[in-house]
Amino acid sequence: MAWIERFSCDVCGKQQMSVEEKWWIALSECAPSLDMKGGQPTLKLMPWDNALAHSAESKHLCGAGCVHTFMDRWMAGFRAGTETCVDLPTSS
Ligand SMILES: [Zn+2]
Repeated sequence: MAWIERFSCDVCGKQQMSVEEKWWIALSECAPSLDMKGGQPTLKLMPWDNALAHSAESKHLCGAGCVHTFMDRWMAGFRAGTETCVDLPTSS
């Protein structure tokens, strides 16, 4: 029997039973701000992609409800100052 990789939802912990379940991927990143003085915190939401799901930064979300909860937490994190936008060093 082939080993099947299973992902679980980063909000509710539900396990993805098959890649046929169309989940969502959220990615928190720093976009360059217009004044170039720092990063602009950005939250990206993308349809499920298996390659992307393997990225360490990717958050796996099982559905709209958990996407909403994740976004609420992300927003609250900035309000509370616990989330910061740090520029990642470029590899080039
Ligand atoms: Zn979930």
